[in-house]
Amino acid sequence: MLVRDILSTKGTIVHHCSPEDTLADVADLMVGHNIGSLVVMQDDDMVGIITERDILRACSATRGPLEFLKVSERMTRCPVVASPGDEVADVMCLMTERRIRHVPVVEGGRLVGIISIGDTVKAQNDELCRENHYLKSYIQS
Ligand code: AMP
Repeated sequence: MLVRDILSTKGTIVHHCSPEDTLADVADLMVGHNIGSLVVMQDDDMVGIITERDILRACSATRGPLEFLKVSERMTRCPVVASPGDEVADVMCLMTERRIRHVPVVEGGRLVGIISIGDTVKAQNDELCRENHYLKSYIQS
């Protein structure tokens, strides 16, 4: 199964924010969209990624209000990315090795989607269920 197969089901919308936004803005967006990460965009370029883990770290480090913390100070620059043609199993290995749960998908230098560890687990589970179904029908026929 390929990354593009996940995107064809879940869609290509990527929620994003700007480096100048505050962590309070980011928390509102994540809660509003029920997601755990935002890609950071400047003009049309992806300049980083910020996730719920970054907000947690900022809270622990500063114990101050999120309104005074800028995305640019807390985001991870140069995100690890995948291509639509990558195998989902390889992206799962990447996520495990790098200890990340979100991977933007880039094609020809353009951001075309994002997949989370939850998306990869769901895709793998769906595939196993399908295989199981066919094997059962084969045994019973
Ligand atoms: P996550 O497990 O995705 O919440 O992210 C854990 C940490 O890794 C946070 O500091 C993120 O900013 C960072 N991170 C998340 N996704 C990526 C990525 N694709 N590339 C590089 N760093 C990332």
